[in-house]
Amino acid sequence: MSAAPRDVQDTFGRPLKSLRLSVTDRCNLRCKYCMPEEEYAWLPRDNVLTFEEMAAVTGYFTDLGVDKVRLTGGEPLLRRDLPRLVRLLFQNRKITDLALTTNGILLGDQAQDLFDAGVHRITVSIDSLRPDRFRALTRRDEHARVLEGIRTLRQVGFTGLKLDTVAIRGFNDDELADLIEFGKGHRAEVRFIEYMDVGGATDWSMDQVLSRAAILEELGRRYGRITPVEEVSSAPAQRFLLPDGTSFGIIPSTTTPFCSTCDRSRVTADGMWYLCLYAKDGTDLRQPLRSGASPDSIRELIRSVWQGRKDRGAEERKALGQAGVREARLIEVKKLREDPHLEMHARGG
Ligand code: SAM
Repeated sequence: MSAAPRDVQDTFGRPLKSLRLSVTDRCNLRCKYCMPEEEYAWLPRDNVLTFEEMAAVTGYFTDLGVDKVRLTGGEPLLRRDLPRLVRLLFQNRKITDLALTTNGILLGDQAQDLFDAGVHRITVSIDSLRPDRFRALTRRDEHARVLEGIRTLRQVGFTGLKLDTVAIRGFNDDELADLIEFGKGHRAEVRFIEYMDVGGATDWSMDQVLSRAAILEELGRRYGRITPVEEVSSAPAQRFLLPDGTSFGIIPSTTTPFCSTCDRSRVTADGMWYLCLYAKDGTDLRQPLRSGASPDSIRELIRSVWQGRKDRGAEERKALGQAGVREARLIEVKKLREDPHLEMHARGG
């Protein structure tokens, strides 16, 4: 991996490039693998960063080499007036890729404003094309609105649309080709994510993980020869082509972790910075931000923390499995319930 001179590198030479900014820990779905409970220990409202604070924090990161920013959550569209944050970030010319991940429910209302404000790319998470399955997984009857949201994206003019599907054995493993066909109809690239044992996935078990190999086998049976796309990228998705040229991706985080090229980190809505999706501890950026610390000292803090980064969380998770403690969890459920920051929906997927 090559890094520009100003780039800050961690102990494995990984540059600080990609930032996921969680704008809220709230969500309007209750997916079984992410946020299965109705109520949580939510982040205290006063602690949630204002848009100006988020733009300032993002600016410190872009000063140190970050050029990709993805807004996430919780469900980012639940954060009131999100386009205003987008407009603030759009003024930061060091951001070359300003993306958003959403469950799509509120896109029908917000897609136009997000487009006008300057979001470059949108990824919609959709795990099933069947309303009954969607309801069973998410505990909400919102499937039609998600489909409507996806349609609106095209009407508004978004290109480069991606659809992310968590592939779960026994749940949607018979829908892989249907999802690809649906994606074709919407000029969207489908990416299958291996089910991960992260905060929120309290019912995770290895036998529910539909591996990259199993996904390729299933799609090969339906479509014939599948060709890997040769590309040098730090993106988590490995891309493939079907015989008709349709591309799709697989994010094999569980069976084939990509820690060695991981250039991403996450800031929660209340300003905690995590170096890894699996990290148990983070760095509080809200405190220096609100106590009037100088921009230089905050940049210095970020630089030194990144330079000491050793995280290889997904690889460690995999090693646990290989050591025969497959069902052991990296973070105990009890700890998850005590500290909202450990939940996937707080630190952003
Ligand atoms: N609400 C937004 C959405 O639905 O895209 C953004 C946040 S959500 C946490 C981001 C992504 O993480 C979604 O695609 C979701 O499916 C994925 N995700 C959540 N829990 C997961 C798990 N246990 N394994 C794999 N992916 C997961």
